[in-house]
Amino acid sequence: MTIDPRILEIIVCPQCRGELAVEAESLYCTKCLLAYPIRNGIPVLLIDAAIKRG
Ligand SMILES: [Zn+2]
Repeated sequence: MTIDPRILEIIVCPQCRGELAVEAESLYCTKCLLAYPIRNGIPVLLIDAAIKRG
């Protein structure tokens, strides 16, 4: 899954405003480690949809 780098520069974690990084089918926050799903190439930045990473 690829996300336009220009989009990655704009979006931040809705929970902590941290930077987001792409991993497989999700975007994860490098600060609080919540992982947000990517559906049809669109990141779903909803805390309710996020999965906490260990
Ligand atoms: Zn975060």
